[in-house]
Amino acid sequence: MEILRAGGSALDAVERGLRLCEDNLEDHYIGTSGLPNARGIVELDASIMIGSTRAFGAVAAVKNYPNPISIARKVLEELPQHSILVGEGAEDFAKYLGFPTADLITPESKALWLKQLESVNSESIEGENTKATSGDERYRLATLELLKRMAPHDGPWGTINIIAVDQSGELVCGVSTSGYPYKHPGRVGDSAIAGAGNYADIRYGAAACTGRGELAIRGGTARSVVENLRAGQDPQTACANALLDARSLLDDFRAELRCLSLTQDGRHGGAAGMEGSTYTLMTEHSTAPEFHPRRAI
Ligand code: ASP
Repeated sequence: MEILRAGGSALDAVERGLRLCEDNLEDHYIGTSGLPNARGIVELDASIMIGSTRAFGAVAAVKNYPNPISIARKVLEELPQHSILVGEGAEDFAKYLGFPTADLITPESKALWLKQLESVNSESIEGENTKATSGDERYRLATLELLKRMAPHDGPWGTINIIAVDQSGELVCGVSTSGYPYKHPGRVGDSAIAGAGNYADIRYGAAACTGRGELAIRGGTARSVVENLRAGQDPQTACANALLDARSLLDDFRAELRCLSLTQDGRHGGAAGMEGSTYTLMTEHSTAPEFHPRRAI
């Protein structure tokens, strides 16, 4: 908000906001201290999209670089022939640009990772296929049984979505995450994929997702929200309808999916698969973040 109020760009504001979250050691779903993959290695995904040009930059499955959002921005700005870099190639690009490396696992995130591995309970999913948590349990069982790998813990997911409009009217959407904990090494989630976890089109609005990334990928959920805006729906309805569409997909590992949306003229809304979910809004007049409820579907 300081950047936007000073007349800076939405691109700078979104990148800076996400970097603060990536560097927050208390958030275990993004950046340093994000929960690791099945091998105990932190792999990060991030993307950024500009509403006026629909230019998109993303990196996925990046190890040892604490600020993937900044690498994603560089992909957008300095590799216009490409949109997404993954793994080693993304790390090479970051090295070439001189980005600093860091050990992304902390004693706390490692302890959390180990603790959740021990908490799988095969009996808890019996007959509970419709509960939001049963998908998570199935994912854990499947990974334990088949791959000796495992999925999300029961706390809130921590992927960060930031959408900003600057004084020139530019609309930018950014997403950063450590992805699903215990994921298969190399797994790329919705956060790095245009149309799935991130989409911005200045004519209609921008949208971003958190939660079960595979559903957002299959449903093209962020793009669906923007299509719904294009059809004249308000942001909250657009989000709710996109989530309803994703929810219609069969998915044994179903877990909550959430989305939020902002238009260039400042209309906003969000939806979630569970009651009680909120998103945060600040405008040029705000003195503190305002929490808005998402529509539960
Ligand atoms: N959407 C992220 C992913 O699938 C995870 C999350 O938001 O919790 O990687």
